[in-house]
Amino acid sequence: MKTILVTGGSGFVGSNLCQRLIENGDKVICVDNNYTGRMSNIKKLLENPNFTFIKHDICDILEIGEKIDQIYNLACPASPPAYQGKYAIKTTKTCVLGILNMLELAKKHNSTILQGSTSEVYGDPIMHPQSESYRGNVNPIGIRACYDEGKRCAESLMFDYHRHENVDIKVIRIFNTYGPNMDPNDGRVVSNFICQALSGKDITVYGDGTQTRSFCYIDDLIDIMIKVMNSDKEFTGPINTGNPGEFTIKELAQKVIEKIDSKSQIIYKDLPLDDPTQRRPDITLAKDKFQWEPKIKLDEGLDKTIEYFKTCIHEFRG
Ligand code: NAD
Ligand code: UDP
Repeated sequence: MKTILVTGGSGFVGSNLCQRLIENGDKVICVDNNYTGRMSNIKKLLENPNFTFIKHDICDILEIGEKIDQIYNLACPASPPAYQGKYAIKTTKTCVLGILNMLELAKKHNSTILQGSTSEVYGDPIMHPQSESYRGNVNPIGIRACYDEGKRCAESLMFDYHRHENVDIKVIRIFNTYGPNMDPNDGRVVSNFICQALSGKDITVYGDGTQTRSFCYIDDLIDIMIKVMNSDKEFTGPINTGNPGEFTIKELAQKVIEKIDSKSQIIYKDLPLDDPTQRRPDITLAKDKFQWEPKIKLDEGLDKTIEYFKTCIHEFRG
């Protein structure tokens, strides 16, 4: 049995990961400050003796008595409205101070540490699709910079701790992922469109809706995360994890309306500054190294996610 620390464990990705690790028979220590995470995501897990929750902000030093084998660092506001709003400065702090604290912990415990990085390190990409060798097109002073540059700095710290402190590292670059345990009020596109359509409210497309994204269902992401974490010591990444199916935001809106048979109308709002115009992962590395590719197509994943949101639509504030 491994002892595994998951930061951001009460959030969307973190809670799904904790669930899978517990099912696999591991001991899980979940750390979160609950800024954007929710205790309801881990309510059932708290009944399991192998699961512990520690309310803690990773910007502060964390001491753990027992030996930690692996650390998944997922703590960070991830929704553009969260990191462009009241959590902007906190986002940079979480990315930079947070990963420093986790790398120190990994060094002390001789643990392998996996950083949940992001496709945002590529910024508004000129290269399409994006492969790991692309160095990105990020505006360092824009409203997305706290997140994009924060995550880039975290990657650089990961590699310096690997080079200079001999820490075992894995960096995954996560592309848009969706599924159960997303907060109905998170503000990202999949949760917004589904909740708007379920409650008969207008569907808010930002810009003209021609920008593209590639959407990965959560179970596929968890599969590759665990494979990467347990890969040979020499493999550090970075590695793209995402679904290469690419859709315009308008196509997504239409799909959601059709599936729910909703009366909601599409309305158009201003496109936020620096919003990437296109995004699609090149997953050749994940295919070659791990024989992994997403199994769940957007239609199937949306159906599962709609069923989930039906159970918590009363929480949606619109
Ligand atoms: P989320 O907001 O649901 O989860 C983030 C969690 O981190 C929340 O529970 C939050 O309370 C916690 N947190 C934030 N700051 C913290 C701090 N200082 N100390 C302790 N906990 C803190 O978002 P998510 O979609 O689950 O994202 C999880 C991770 O995956 C993030 O690091 C994000 O950057 C990365 N990621 C996610 C996606 C995606 O599409 N879901 C894409 C790219 C990268
Ligand atoms: N978006 C939208 N309507 C919404 C929320 C988001 O049109 O209600 C757009 C957003 O401008 C972006 C895309 O959908 O072009 C994906 O946004 P999201 O917030 O999910 O994440 P991003 O990929 O930008 O980090």
